[in-house]
Amino acid sequence: MQFPLPPPVFTGTPESILQESQHLIDQARSVQDSIATTITPDTAAFANTLLPIAHEQNERLYGRHMLEFYQNVSTDDKVREASRKAEKQFSELETELGMREDVSRLVKAVYDRNEDLDEECRRLLERQMLEYKRNGLHLGEEDRKRLQQISKELGDVKAQFEKNLSEEKGSVDFTKEELDGLPDDVFAGLESDGEGQYHLSFRPAHTSAVLGHVKIAGTRRKVYIGNVTKCNENVPLLEKAFILRDEAARLLGYSNHAEYRLEDKMEKSPQKINDFLEDVRLKLVPKGRVAIERLKQLKTEGLTARGEGNDGKFYLWDQSYYSRILVQRDYAVDHEKLAEYFPLDWVIERMLEIFAELMGMAFHQIPTGRGSENEELVWHGDVRMFAVYDDFEEGEVHKDFLGYLYMDVHPRAGKRPGLCDLSIHPGYINPSTSTRTHHPSTCLITNFPKSPTSKPTLLTHSDLWQLFHELGHGIHDLVSKTRFACFHGPETAQDFCEAPSQMLEKFCWTREVLQVLGRYWGSLSDEHRQAWQGEHPGEDIPSETIPADLIEGLLQSQTANRALFWLQSLHIAIFDMTIHQPKSHEQARNINTTKLWNALKSAILGIDAPEGDEGGHGQAIFGHLFSGYDAGFYSCLSSQVYACDMFASKFSADPLKREEGMRWRREVLEKGGSRDEMEGMRVFLGREVGSEAFGAWLGV
Ligand SMILES: [Zn+2]
Repeated sequence: MQFPLPPPVFTGTPESILQESQHLIDQARSVQDSIATTITPDTAAFANTLLPIAHEQNERLYGRHMLEFYQNVSTDDKVREASRKAEKQFSELETELGMREDVSRLVKAVYDRNEDLDEECRRLLERQMLEYKRNGLHLGEEDRKRLQQISKELGDVKAQFEKNLSEEKGSVDFTKEELDGLPDDVFAGLESDGEGQYHLSFRPAHTSAVLGHVKIAGTRRKVYIGNVTKCNENVPLLEKAFILRDEAARLLGYSNHAEYRLEDKMEKSPQKINDFLEDVRLKLVPKGRVAIERLKQLKTEGLTARGEGNDGKFYLWDQSYYSRILVQRDYAVDHEKLAEYFPLDWVIERMLEIFAELMGMAFHQIPTGRGSENEELVWHGDVRMFAVYDDFEEGEVHKDFLGYLYMDVHPRAGKRPGLCDLSIHPGYINPSTSTRTHHPSTCLITNFPKSPTSKPTLLTHSDLWQLFHELGHGIHDLVSKTRFACFHGPETAQDFCEAPSQMLEKFCWTREVLQVLGRYWGSLSDEHRQAWQGEHPGEDIPSETIPADLIEGLLQSQTANRALFWLQSLHIAIFDMTIHQPKSHEQARNINTTKLWNALKSAILGIDAPEGDEGGHGQAIFGHLFSGYDAGFYSCLSSQVYACDMFASKFSADPLKREEGMRWRREVLEKGGSRDEMEGMRVFLGREVGSEAFGAWLGV
């Protein structure tokens, strides 16, 4: 087999991973030592100071991503452990480098020299300067010591918070009758004590299935309350964290943690974000109230029909259940039926075709199955591997190699749960010669169960748009061309990086794309047809493509529950900004997060909550507050402004138009974080970004 470039091999052992990380760490130190001893503030220039640092960082990031990748996919727990250890060492190294006074003096001298630099180099220099400032290099000895102490304490608090969440083992038992309505496949997976009691965990797969499907309100209530009270020990940890963050921000000279966090975002003013959230709140809350009235009516009708009592309330554990029924009743969309048109492998192939067509790319699958000559090129027999090429440039056909794409589709023990896309290697162009020497490799991770029979794994429509979203991050990785790996692909400002993927989600709400993606599973092949007939003896097989009325119902239903969905995000965003903007440190010490979380939730959602302690501590199970989204959760809403505008103005009329797809690729994706993100969108749109499309999309 001919490869465009030698592909990565996944043969890391615990020893080799730690050796390699140590080698990269030593190299980083020695490059900085050498700069510190050979350059003086008088001789410091971009070429002899920043460039060697950037070369070293490129190599380090290229190696580091791969070493850290193992913890997500390796089948060997010792390898995963070594990978996590390497990650910790790399992040400690970053803190160490960010505190080097000797090198920072030289970087400052380069900055003061004010050389004529292009945008990417200037951004690199500014970023480096900002890092020193944010590490407190301008502070006195005492303050710096305290900062280091805070940083260590925060690391410990984060580790404990995440451990409590991931090791939480709570469950609640129900009889089969109490679980009436639970989808068969979920019920079949429940453990039973053999005496009629079934154990239900608080994992998202279980809680969302119960809240969305179980008919008995008492069961939904128990699961809801159990879930929001499952990790109460995290409340003091969260409160400790934001008090520490507040102290650190004030030491560094910021008014609060939000101001500190927004400094490296596109929008740097917390007040502007507060205003944005308040504006959304004012417009969306009335919409939410109307939606609740509609759901409440549905609930009343249901209870009356079953002859059950009604206290006239609409509770938090009623929302998912009646939202699903509403879509089924008013729009005739049965999501389980719709899923029969989305067999996993078919969808993946069509999805790649859509991206290929839209952005001028070609995906060539490399056979890596058991026994094939390429078996060692993947970390597990289920993994699919593609060589990705550029096949379009200015109307001519080019076959330039872009990088490798992997898909690790099915769940297995020790694998990272959920859906995401992870970088294996960032790419970069040699900063000195401008040739692309290192190509990216990226991996789409999903956990769709493998079908044990000839009936394929079926995806829901929500799986579908999430797949588009995550593969969107992967495409961003593959098409990006930057000189510095720290700007590669989705390594943009945090309040921008979701926008491209959020835009691609919207493709799954168009007739054109749904028609391409949908194929009834029973009509995929003769074998599938037989399997279908076996399940449905004597029946006629449904049409091969999605019936037009089902697509229309789906499209109309998309706004049905949108207000309530986004009010939930708005609640978290406002909570996050509130706890990270106390007026004084004293105030930070006195915030009762449970009270604040629950009060904001009632005010924003307007849904009845349980009284007192049963209201629970929803903030204690919300991991984003520790995974880098502190004073940043709002970005899931603010980046929708960009996503909506780009989609509405360039793709909604013709989602598969290559001309726009190519321009989007060149102007928005390719430059990663190497140029001002707003500028990229401005060039793509031919005007400033506006918020009208966002308003229309929210229905306000
Ligand atoms: Zn994302």
